Order: sequence, then structure tokens, then C-alpha cells
Amino acid sequence: MIKKVDHIGIAVKSLEETLPFYTDVLKLELIGIEEVDSQKVKVAFLRAGEIKIELLEPTAENSSIAKFIEKRGEGIHHVALGVESIEERIIEMKEKGINMIDNESRPGAGGAQIAFMHPKSTAGVLYELCEKKGMKG
Ligand code: ZN
Repeated sequence: MIKKVDHIGIAVKSLEETLPFYTDVLKLELIGIEEVDSQKVKVAFLRAGEIKIELLEPTAENSSIAKFIEKRGEGIHHVALGVESIEERIIEMKEKGINMIDNESRPGAGGAQIAFMHPKSTAGVLYELCEKKGMKG
């Protein structure tokens, strides 16, 4: 049911300050930057071969990314697993006793539908299920 690791989400205080490391030092291609209102973040996607890196900058103090940075500092926030038929996957996860943060998918960056699994059910990793419909990359 999991197609691949789609991307790795990294919480940063400032895209402006962090992006040069990725684009100039690591020389990764910047795919795009967009604001995702539902998560109160501004995200930048970079291509790293088959996998993308998603940098998340909070746009509000009550953003979950702002809270994450406050508690744990900048760093790896989540791993996104590419799936098809996300609503069915959510139901399947719940049937298997996995606690979902999102009981229904919600809009993510890049036109994706996403849903987070609770780290208590996944040995401490925040996993995002991510379905892209007709989107490239
Ligand atoms: Zn993500």
C-alpha cells in the first residue's frame, strides 16, 4: 500500500535563512514555495533524487510547526509516505488500531491530500500519508 517515501519534512525557523544551505551548498533543485493555510506554514520543496525535502516554516504562533520548534528545536519533523486512495488507507490504519491525528485527509502542499498518524502508534515517528492526484514529482 505504500508506494515510496514521498518526502521528509523538516521544521525550520526561516526559509530565507535555511534555503541557501540546500540550494547553494547541497545544490538541490528548488521545486517551489507555497503557503499552506490549513497547516499555518510556508513550505519549500526541494528535489533530492526520488525523494523530496519539505522545509516547513511556521506562519503563526499557534502553528504545530511553531510549537514543535519551541519544544524540540529545528530538525526532522515527519516522514511522508506516498499512498493511493488515502481515505481507504486511513480506514485501514484505524482498523489495525493505529491512532490517526487526522481522521480524514486534508489539503497539503502541492495539491496533495494528507493525513498524519499519531507517533504514539508508530514508535515515535510522525508519519504523513500523502496522496498526489495528477501531480508531477
Ligand atoms: Zn509533509
